[in-house]
Amino acid sequence: MGHLLGRKEREPFAIVHADIATGDEQGTVERDMTILVGADGRIEQVTPSQQAYIPADYHQIDATGKYVAPGLINAHTHLFSDGRPLTSGATSQKTQKTAIKLLHSPLGKVYMRSQAKANIMTLLNSGVTTMRTMGDVGYEAVALRNRIDADDMIGPRILASGPLLAIPGGHGDPLIALASSNPEEARRNTRINLDHGVNAIKIAATGGVTDATKLGVAGTPQMTEEEMAAICDEAHEYGVIVAAHAQGQEGVMRALKAGVDTIEHGSALNDEMLELFRHNPRSLRGYSILDPTLSAGLPLTQLSQEQLGISDIVRGNSELVVDGMVQGARDAHANGIPVGVATDTGMTFVPQYTTWREMDLLVRYAGFTPAQAFNAGTQVNARDLGFEDVTGSISIGKDADMIVLDEDPVKNLRTLASPRLVIAKGRPVWRPEVKHFPEIDQLLDTF
Ligand SMILES: [Zn+2]
Repeated sequence: MGHLLGRKEREPFAIVHADIATGDEQGTVERDMTILVGADGRIEQVTPSQQAYIPADYHQIDATGKYVAPGLINAHTHLFSDGRPLTSGATSQKTQKTAIKLLHSPLGKVYMRSQAKANIMTLLNSGVTTMRTMGDVGYEAVALRNRIDADDMIGPRILASGPLLAIPGGHGDPLIALASSNPEEARRNTRINLDHGVNAIKIAATGGVTDATKLGVAGTPQMTEEEMAAICDEAHEYGVIVAAHAQGQEGVMRALKAGVDTIEHGSALNDEMLELFRHNPRSLRGYSILDPTLSAGLPLTQLSQEQLGISDIVRGNSELVVDGMVQGARDAHANGIPVGVATDTGMTFVPQYTTWREMDLLVRYAGFTPAQAFNAGTQVNARDLGFEDVTGSISIGKDADMIVLDEDPVKNLRTLASPRLVIAKGRPVWRPEVKHFPEIDQLLDTF
């Protein structure tokens, strides 16, 4: 059993003869490189193979003919579902009430934890080494993050949001939200999440698609600018970035004015909005980011209702907001606004393993080059989520978050669907494997 790594130890290793897909905006590849990873899980050396000195106790992994790339970063995930269609019954109030009782019962919590763990392992095995949750049932993502940070288990680096913050009866309430009716309550709920150890905050600024019970709810403003500003003030005080589910121009505008750092889903962007993305005085870092989540939007309008198994209400609400999401992605990209790779995993037709598809959709629907899309899912996301010192590129001193691929991802993004090796903070996942839903994969391939 000598070859099995102990729980906390890592063994140092060298990846030799690797072509590095750097993840920069130009799609640069560095040929025949050697990467040394220390026992602390950090990258010690990145150097042309002929100049490399490899200490005798380092395992060597020969990557001849393979590409080594930075691990992927997914800025918008949910861990309570695996992405198979949520049945139309899930949108009825009665079902929601039953579900909330179950999920918050002791047995429900055990179920939730195992579900969340299975889903992060799928993310990891699909090459995601850093992720942000954007609305959890409770604090199951916080617990998993703590175990991973303590080296108790292998997993991706996690920004965990806990329940989202919403108005009573608003998007996410009651299933995955804490509700508030005024700025003081909104601030208090923010504190509750921060006290539970979250390192991300998520607001429901507007109505959503999947849990709406009426047509017209998606994209309708729900939280006031004052309530969102109170949440941002509180979170920013602790250096925590705030995301807002915002569809429709009015809701996006309010969220930006309140100081929200990342806009999830979005809408077509006018000049005033573009200016607020560029210079957002109330945001944590002075600018805001768009996460268009095309993976969650496009299936709902591109596939038939029969294929999706969704209700008329869900279909109708999608039609109200999805075109705006796509237009927003185009507007942001054309105007140099940072755009993140974020899929909204767990939603209808968004399995945990399809992060690469978001990059593909950014290319086909929003004017990105493949190099720009891959850059967004690695270096750009690392910077915008506050991790640029530790991940996002294969650089000396950063954590060894890497994937080994058959092809250059910039030449063929689909190669990201089957990484041959995933390394998270220097810990390898040999022969990564995920359980696919072939019917969903096939339908996603059709548009
Ligand atoms: Zn979401």
